[in-house]
Amino acid sequence: MKLLSGSLNDDCIILPLWQKGEHTPDFKDKNFDLRAVQASKDFKADEGEVLFVYPEKGAKRLLLLGMGKKEEMTPERYRRAYATATKAANSKKIKTLTLMDYNKAIAEGIALANYAFDTYKTEKRSLIEAVSLLKATPKNLAEFARVFTVFEGVYAARNMVNLNADDMTPAHLAAFAEKLSGPHIKVHVHDKIWLKKKGLNLLLAVSKGSVVDPALIVIEYRGDAKSKENTMVVGKGVTYDTGGLNLKTEMGDMKCDMAGAAAALGLIVAAKGVALKKNITVIIPTTENAISGASYKQGDVYTSYLGKTVEIDNTDAEGRLILADALAWGNKEYKPTRIIDMATLTGGVVVAFAEEVTGLMSNDEALAGKIQTASARTFERVWPLPLYDEFKDLLKSDIADIKNCGSKGASSIKGGIFLKEFVGDTPWAHLDIAGTAYLDGEKRYLPKGATGVGVRLLMDFLENE
Ligand SMILES: [Zn+2]
Repeated sequence: MKLLSGSLNDDCIILPLWQKGEHTPDFKDKNFDLRAVQASKDFKADEGEVLFVYPEKGAKRLLLLGMGKKEEMTPERYRRAYATATKAANSKKIKTLTLMDYNKAIAEGIALANYAFDTYKTEKRSLIEAVSLLKATPKNLAEFARVFTVFEGVYAARNMVNLNADDMTPAHLAAFAEKLSGPHIKVHVHDKIWLKKKGLNLLLAVSKGSVVDPALIVIEYRGDAKSKENTMVVGKGVTYDTGGLNLKTEMGDMKCDMAGAAAALGLIVAAKGVALKKNITVIIPTTENAISGASYKQGDVYTSYLGKTVEIDNTDAEGRLILADALAWGNKEYKPTRIIDMATLTGGVVVAFAEEVTGLMSNDEALAGKIQTASARTFERVWPLPLYDEFKDLLKSDIADIKNCGSKGASSIKGGIFLKEFVGDTPWAHLDIAGTAYLDGEKRYLPKGATGVGVRLLMDFLENE
């Protein structure tokens, strides 16, 4: 989105109006004559209320935006109000929005709502292309520019997830990653032969039924050469999940099973865009989980990269298998100071939290606490689930060191318990984004389909920890 400097004669000026009492707007704005609106009593300035008015002089349109009561305002309410205004402007095919009020949440609200996935549509929907700032300070401008740059990462993640599974295979993810390489960014794409040589057998097992090759994608982002800190971000990249031989009965959304990988790539887009002074190592194990005569089978045992043997008691619990190898290899190779993985891992997290909250599991309270703080700031909400040792009994196998799925119940926690076995003592947090990464329907400022969840959360975490 472009940033322009605005004037009172612009195409569409958003005029935020607060309430001075119950459903009573404070019409004291000096720039515009709002007496007719006031007399009509059509506008109450309730939170998120919008009304277009067409003044005789000056601006072509005023978009009156109800803000509710000032003393009740929070960043999230700013986001929602300005997202509503943005959608109203999009419905009128307005291309430039002019603002009179500035804060980070306002920029976020506009950016969150100003998205449409139209790659496969003949007629594209209209979106805001520029934001004009009226009487803004250089600090306001810089803040808006930074937010919009971070959103390039959010949109990239959304687009990758929304594309056809055949248009976003492991090779496509690798190609996207390779384009990110630059002065402080090295990208490695490890192929099937490398995976065999290194012994990432769980990733290889999951890939057996597919006609496309798996890969392990690595991005070394080094924004702070002086620091020894290195955050490893691992994203699940199952580009289509049929469930394998334990075939799913419903798989209409299963192209979204690489949303963790998309968020990790989006994070690097954002970090690169704002030249974030942090070190990040992204690791993406990627494959399809398809079916064929070559598919890996329920009941078989495979030896992981770490050496632990795993009994496959459900081929649809493939995410934790590919993540286990990626976590163990990355931990050994890069010795990160902390690890965060993002994965559309379990239906259980949707049972617990619907599409509202990401499940957070961790072996380190301090790390989990920092992620929760970032969650509160960004409103990408997370909630902790416990990884008590007793849950490990659910994954006991008679013929291997561990099962990948195990006995009934606690499905999200079992995912976390399984992954914990592969990170050693390194502080680690697992984000189960199965509910929040892909929505059944549009809600608030989030679109139907991919949300890009995780990009803003981890950017905020890295910027502020
Ligand atoms: Zn699965």
